[in-house]
Amino acid sequence: LSERLQGAISSVGKGGKISEADLRQMMREIRLALLEADVNFKVVKKFVKQVNERALGSDVLKSLSPAQQVVKIVDEELTDLMGGEREPLNMASQPPTVMMMVGLQGAGKTTTVGKLAKYITEELGKKKPLLVAGDVYRPAAVDQLKTIGQQLGFEVYDEGTQVSPVEIAKRALDQAKLNGNQVVIIDTAGRLHVNEELMDELRNIKAAVNPDEILLTVDAMTGQDAVNVADAFNEALDITGVVITKLDGDTRGGAALSIRSIIDKPIKFTGQGEKLDALEPFYPDRMSSRILGMGDMMTLIEKAQKDFDEAEAEKMAGKIKDASFDFNDFVAQMDQVNKMGSIKDIIKMIPGMNKIPGLDEFDVSEKEMLRVKAIVQSMTPYERENPDEISQSRRRRIAKGCGLDLQAVNQLIKQFNQTRQVMSQMSNGKMSGMNKMMKR
Ligand code: GDP
Ligand code: MG
Repeated sequence: LSERLQGAISSVGKGGKISEADLRQMMREIRLALLEADVNFKVVKKFVKQVNERALGSDVLKSLSPAQQVVKIVDEELTDLMGGEREPLNMASQPPTVMMMVGLQGAGKTTTVGKLAKYITEELGKKKPLLVAGDVYRPAAVDQLKTIGQQLGFEVYDEGTQVSPVEIAKRALDQAKLNGNQVVIIDTAGRLHVNEELMDELRNIKAAVNPDEILLTVDAMTGQDAVNVADAFNEALDITGVVITKLDGDTRGGAALSIRSIIDKPIKFTGQGEKLDALEPFYPDRMSSRILGMGDMMTLIEKAQKDFDEAEAEKMAGKIKDASFDFNDFVAQMDQVNKMGSIKDIIKMIPGMNKIPGLDEFDVSEKEMLRVKAIVQSMTPYERENPDEISQSRRRRIAKGCGLDLQAVNQLIKQFNQTRQVMSQMSNGKMSGMNKMMKR
């Protein structure tokens, strides 16, 4: 998914406003990327429509390329699609909190019961979770939970395979109340496919223990199927949240994108591996960045937005056009760049750019900046505004004034002239122009 989206994003025209044709092209790519990733087509349609409307209606930010602007919109809409805010677990006001894990066979219920117990004790500070072996159809299932309990040092409630899961759940809850278990997590049986027998059993358990959370585990790798499964379980049980498992092996991520939007229930966690600590709270914004595969692109964009003075940029652009760019502007421009931190650091945040050779050349040291400023300060106002009028004798005077040698002054003027040339050549992309300017 990431690759395709990135391709779509970089295909947008650079500079100026995004044309409708550019946008249409990009949206086509994004739509394909999402469909290919197994995102539900209704979700895709809605998503593309929303991004389209926002992109066409918005002004392109002065300090950013339009492509980045679209990336930002896509990122925000993806985050929104997955629920916007992180949704924490529901906890009972009176312990024990009761949770019930449901899902198809092999989706990761039993494993997630263990992971969740660990998370709740370690991260939420709850004590003595009780794991309940409610999958009574296979002895191996009971043993599996017991093993997990042993590994984590948590109590497991089991009555073998001869008692009904509804009875087991009820008695486990009674015991938890007596023993002061703060959380009860009930493992249940799955089936290969959704069927009524399974749903009846789960409904009965639900009615017997009235859970605070009914968490559905779905396997990320099942893509579109995961959405249908989620829909069916939600219809039958009115679940409270979803855990998307096996996201470590999933390169498509389509399930994560569709589920929230189709059943309107939050994704609360993701499973990121077989180990019992491989459970992560689900953050829609982080998932979105991950899907877009943008590295720290967002950080970069926010930084640029915050630090780059729009008005300043416009003034500068005007000066470049009418060739009145002078030493005062040179220093102002340098300060502007300096405000954004080291150019090198900024370039490093661009995906794929952190390994380009010669990156060190972009580093403009503090010392260098001070030197340049000292030289410019030794110029008269007339000289600053008329760089072409700085003769050899003036240069000697400037060098004396700032205590540097003539060579340093010559070098700066040469650098200034190159900069001016580069800047007048660049017809688009203010950021890239600035990068060139600072490169010596
Ligand atoms: P259940 O039938 O729903 O109880 O599923 P299990 O908990 O027994 O898990 C089925 C298989 O999936 C086991 O081999 C687990 O180790 C594996 N599994 C569960 N969650 C994850 C996960 O997040 N990532 C990976 N890679 N494997 C997982
Ligand atoms: Mg199981």
